[in-house]
Amino acid sequence: MAFFCQHCGTGLPVGARFCSNCGAVVTACAYVPGRPLVRPIIGRQIAGVCIGLSQAYGWDLTLVRILTVLGIIFTSGLVAVAYLACWIGIPEEPVRLP
Ligand SMILES: [Zn+2]
Repeated sequence: MAFFCQHCGTGLPVGARFCSNCGAVVTACAYVPGRPLVRPIIGRQIAGVCIGLSQAYGWDLTLVRILTVLGIIFTSGLVAVAYLACWIGIPEEPVRLP
C-alpha cells in the first residue's frame, strides 16, 4: 500500500504525519493503493467522498453510499464527522481540460 502527500505527491513512509518534501500535514485519508484518492467531479452526490473511496479502493459505490448513510444514522454522527474529515482531507480531482 503506497502512501503519498496530498499536496505534492511525494511518497511517504506509512504513518508519516507530515510531508518530508513540502511539510503539509498528512491525514488518515491519504492512503493511496494504486490510484490517487480524489473526489471526482463527475458522478458525485454530495462531496464526491463516496465515489472517491470506491474508486481508490475498488469498493462498490452503491455499498459505500448505503454504509455511509446507515453509518451516519447509527453512529450518532460519528461517520458524518469522518465524512467531513475526508471532504476536507481528500483533494478534489484535478480538472482535465478536453
Ligand atoms: Zn508534500
